[in-house]
Formats: sequence, C-alpha cells, structure tokens
Amino acid sequence: MNIVMALETQPQHITIDRTAGLMVVTWRDGHHSEYALTWLRAHCPCATCREERREAVLAADPLRLTPTPAPSSEVVDAEFVGHYAIRFTWGDGHIAGIFPFSALRASCSCAECNPEGPPPLVSD
Ligand SMILES: [Zn+2]
Ligand SMILES: [Zn+2]
Repeated sequence: MNIVMALETQPQHITIDRTAGLMVVTWRDGHHSEYALTWLRAHCPCATCREERREAVLAADPLRLTPTPAPSSEVVDAEFVGHYAIRFTWGDGHIAGIFPFSALRASCSCAECNPEGPPPLVSD
C-alpha cells in the first residue's frame, strides 16, 4: 500500500509557545498556521469532549450556570501520533484528544484559508 500525503497536511515545524498560548505550525508547503491553545482545547476531538459539547448545546438554558471551571488549556506535553496527528497532554491531565494534521490545516485561522474564521476542528 502506498500512502501519499499531501505537503499541506504535513508539518515541517511545530512550535508550542506556552507563554503566548499559541501553537504555530509551519507546513511543508510553506504555509504558517496559528492556533490558540484555548481554541484547541475547546475543540478537543475526543469522544468525551464531543459528547460534553453536544450536551451543552442541548441544555442551552440561559438560566443554567456552569460552576465547573473551564478545562485547562495549558499544554504540559505534546507528541506525534504516527505521521498524521498530534496529541497534547493538558494541564488537567486530559490526553484523549488526537488532533489530525489534515483537520488542523483545514481549520487554519488565517484569513487566506478561512476568511469567515476557522471552522470547528471536528463536527460534533
Ligand atoms: Zn477531550
Ligand atoms: Zn492559513
């Protein structure tokens, strides 16, 4: 089997600037993408987070308060998952989310890629 990966979904460099709260990806086609860590955490693609987001949408009662703190958007560690994705270890220990590069590239926050703003990383 011959898997051909497009250059635009292969990272050349990934820098996680924890002070700025940003992940900066330089893709192999030369494009730069920036992702706020808070945005990445808010779009965590794992099944648990997707389910929580679905429930939050269903329970859209304006009187409902959410006493639970926002999930940590502090990245403790990051590792590649094969050649296709990156996984973060968040400050609260959450490690379930695997972020495919193709989805990250599609959600690039620059005006050239997504003039209307980045689409959700995964559809819930
Ligand atoms: Zn998650
Ligand atoms: Zn872009």
